[in-house]
Amino acid sequence: MVINDIKKICVIGAGNMGHQIALCTALAGYQVSCTDISQEMLNKAEDFTRTYLPERVAKGKMQQDQADQALINLRFTQNLEEAAEDADYVIEAAVEIMDIKRKLFAELDRIAPPHAILATNSSFIVSSKIADATQRPDKVCNMHFFNPALVMKLVEVVQGPHTSLETAQITLDLCAKLGKIGVLLKKEIYGFLVNRILSALHQEALFLADMGIASPEEIDLAVTNALGHPMGPFRLMDFTGIDLSYYIGMERYRETRDPKDKPSPIIIEKFAKGEYGKKTKKGFYSYE
Ligand code: NAD
Repeated sequence: MVINDIKKICVIGAGNMGHQIALCTALAGYQVSCTDISQEMLNKAEDFTRTYLPERVAKGKMQQDQADQALINLRFTQNLEEAAEDADYVIEAAVEIMDIKRKLFAELDRIAPPHAILATNSSFIVSSKIADATQRPDKVCNMHFFNPALVMKLVEVVQGPHTSLETAQITLDLCAKLGKIGVLLKKEIYGFLVNRILSALHQEALFLADMGIASPEEIDLAVTNALGHPMGPFRLMDFTGIDLSYYIGMERYRETRDPKDKPSPIIIEKFAKGEYGKKTKKGFYSYE
């Protein structure tokens, strides 16, 4: 298979990442089916699309015909079978829980055509933890977008030991078709490049807040004004989802059993209260 054989893309999950990845691929001219187990999330994703496109046109950032075509290209459905049965490329952006991803990949292996590539957008789970749930490990890889996917240019493509060179190359070519910058990791490593660097910063920020050295707001002020980051670590966690930080920590802890990998006390507390950040209108900051 070569990049030009890819006509139809299936995006699994219509959450924070999925709805924007789906729109990104539709804007690049692909036929796209975005699927989610939650009809509410699909409705939200569709509402976002119908608001975002006219706004871009009104701002002169997009041609009317490109917006119209993207709307035609993009379909939302709760039916996984219908979404994946004729897909050439699948991007899984469902919740960061290993068992769910493994079950999804086993299902996708049954449903999607044999030539289809199955990629996961997971932030931390390397695809070798999922590939053996399928009969096509050579066609499984990580394709990791950044949030917000419509804006952020970088995509990390991770070639696991099972991933064929062809799969990695097509995925890099797909990044280019989407107007993204793909970087190839030739070996799997937990957290890839960017999140490893970011995690070190977040771990320290959470430690400082847990110790009562400074408040999350003050730590964010320090990081934005001294390091020049556009967002401090706490604001960023609100944006990416505190629930995601929790799941990532728990997955890692389950694997390593190292107490330092457990989510920090503040994250556990926020998770227990259902304060996930922007998506629940409350996290470290309030978004009423
Ligand atoms: P999210 O919670 O916003 O969305 C996840 C969606 O998956 C939900 O809408 C949920 O209904 C759906 N879902 C759950 N089980 C499903 C299933 N079996 N089939 C179909 N849909 C299902 O999460 P998110 O932040 O969009 O993260 C999704 C993935 O993207 C995760 O693997 C995460 O690690 C990765 N990621 C997240 C970010 C970020 O900043 N949030 C950045 C890069 C990558």
